[in-house]
Amino acid sequence: MLSIKNLKASVGDKEILKGIDLDIPKGEVHVIMGPNGVGKSTLAHVLMGAKSYHLTAGSIHLDNEDVTLLDTTERAKKGMFLAFQYPVSIPGLKLSEYLRNLYNIRHEKQLSVSEFRKVLKDKLELLNIERASLQRYLNDGFSGGEMKRLEMLQLMLLEPKVAILDEIDSGVDVDAQKIVAECINQIVKVTKTSFVIVTHYQRLLNFIKPDKVHVVLDGKINQSGDMSLVNELERMGYEHIRQNQSSKT
Ligand code: ADP
Ligand code: MG
Ligand code: MG
Repeated sequence: MLSIKNLKASVGDKEILKGIDLDIPKGEVHVIMGPNGVGKSTLAHVLMGAKSYHLTAGSIHLDNEDVTLLDTTERAKKGMFLAFQYPVSIPGLKLSEYLRNLYNIRHEKQLSVSEFRKVLKDKLELLNIERASLQRYLNDGFSGGEMKRLEMLQLMLLEPKVAILDEIDSGVDVDAQKIVAECINQIVKVTKTSFVIVTHYQRLLNFIKPDKVHVVLDGKINQSGDMSLVNELERMGYEHIRQNQSSKT
């Protein structure tokens, strides 16, 4: 379980996260929504230990272990995973090599090329990925849908305790969104991974059926609810929620 308490973070002298509290039990899917520039990506990066943000308060616990001060690699080893909307491409590194490396590090194994092929087999079938694509270079010239499939393959190989997905459904077609959703559902079922999903789109959520939805406004979780909150947002927008809030206080 991931437990976030009073998390505050700034860039330069600008405070972006102003006290985020969030508990995500094992195997639950939580969604983070909010207007542009509100700090959703900042939260994702801070959870993963990005050095470009200055953590000024709060704590992050993974399964009761304090990971607040660990660096990104250590967090990854403990089972945290972050996927972005625009994955980086590393020229000269073949996907098959990259994935085998990741797998070996995460599971503290030294699988050979042929052993790793066996690990890959059913996952490739499940995700409908051609083995030949793995001989290509990392995220180099793949289509949107292919890239999503490959990201989901990474996720399945890593079996993280917590997966943070930052707008990975933005700018892809409905088929690719479905792939992402189906993979998430599979992974939750098989490995009980907890998900933190940042998205702007109701469509993805209709396929996933999240356990909780949180709206970030002004650097804090302003409101939490279920899918009905997403529907409300879709109809009324964020400004409506902000005004509702201020009329109550
Ligand atoms: P969101 O993902 O919700 O759209 P972000 O977390 O990307 O929002 O950004 C939140 C605010 O922090 C924005 O005003 C953005 O310009 C600023 N910000 C984020 N990262 C940096 C950075 N590395 N340097 C300067 N400003 C940043
Ligand atoms: Mg944004
Ligand atoms: Mg963002």
